[in-house]
Amino acid sequence: MEYITGKSLKEYNSFKTEASAKLFAEPKNAEELIQCLNDYSKEKKLVIGGGCNMFFTKDFNGLVIHPQLKGMREASSKEDDDVFIEVMASEDWDDFVKYTVEKGFSGLENLSLIPGTVGASPVQNIGAYGAEVKDCIREVVAIDIDSCEIISLSNQECKFGYRDSIFKQTNKYIILSVIFHLKRTFNYIPKYFDLNKELEDISNPTIMDVRNAVINVRKRKLPDEKVLPNCGSFFKNPYITIEHADKIKQNYPDLPSFPFQEGLIKTSAAFLIDKAGYKGKRNGNIGTYPNQPLIIVNYGTDDGTEIVDFMKEIKDAVNNKFGIMLEPEVWIF
Ligand SMILES: Cc1cc2nc3c(=O)[nH]c(=O)nc-3n(C[C@H](O)[C@H](O)[C@H](O)COP(=O)(O)OP(=O)(O)OC[C@H]3O[C@@H](n4cnc5c(N)ncnc54)[C@H](O)[C@@H]3O)c2cc1C
Repeated sequence: MEYITGKSLKEYNSFKTEASAKLFAEPKNAEELIQCLNDYSKEKKLVIGGGCNMFFTKDFNGLVIHPQLKGMREASSKEDDDVFIEVMASEDWDDFVKYTVEKGFSGLENLSLIPGTVGASPVQNIGAYGAEVKDCIREVVAIDIDSCEIISLSNQECKFGYRDSIFKQTNKYIILSVIFHLKRTFNYIPKYFDLNKELEDISNPTIMDVRNAVINVRKRKLPDEKVLPNCGSFFKNPYITIEHADKIKQNYPDLPSFPFQEGLIKTSAAFLIDKAGYKGKRNGNIGTYPNQPLIIVNYGTDDGTEIVDFMKEIKDAVNNKFGIMLEPEVWIF
């Protein structure tokens, strides 16, 4: 295993913030990964996939692991509706989604064009257009960082929630591969307004139609992180009590609200940020994306603390106006 010291992490996070790693390694298989963990058992560790959900405010004083675990294995017979595919963690997420759609396997089409790796997809239980990856995950194979034991976690053991999982809660596993459960049959279920509108002229959409519609909508609404550095949605959508929502609705009757659990609703962070005056607002190098206020974009700094300052401004503005404390969805190191 080669260990690089003082490696710049600027090209390893999609916000393009500068920081260096004390140690950096790119293990190509489980054995090399275990060797890394043993060689530097006392060092702090950070796994980076595509870096599309994280940025840095300071150097990382430990071992950064950027796994290079590639490959895919399919287990299914043509007669069966169920398809099982094991995909190694470092495969590109959207390449994999494209592969499943081209094969006619359904389940992941709504999650098209989300940047990043397969291995990160269970970490925050990625979701878009009414779908979450947890609904297609059968098992996750991971290494326990402390014991170096390879274990397999069932869907239930992954403790998936909204942008949440055991991997996010404990930070004690490195994901090696994900086993997906997809279907050969497909019926479009209209769930999401933008997507339905995009598909309104197609009477019986195929999986490929849905993927193309998702791609069209995303390209219209979201900035390309390779052109305008960002990490997608910066904040999670908050949960508030029904009474709290009713109070806000006295002034903002169009406040989006989706039932969650007893007494609580989920509302839209984008709506709150917009009404707090931060839609398309720019402060120096940092701003919110004009088409989608939930996305903070970097117009030209490599200093992550500028992003944090802008984040705090937005949080304060939303809290002062609505009494809601937004929580970041993005990892800040
Ligand atoms: C333009 C844009 C649009 C986006 N749209 C969406 C969206 O629609 N829905 C959505 O849910 N997200 C979205 N995101 C966020 C991001 O794409 C996802 O979170 C994605 O899963 C990140 O993958 P990654 O490989 O880049 O993860 P990274 O940013 O590298 O890592 C994210 C977290 O996962 C951990 N991690 C990564 N790999 C592993 C592994 N093998 N084992 C254990 N832990 C690991 C990291 O340590 C970190 O904590 C968007 C981001 C951008 C830039």
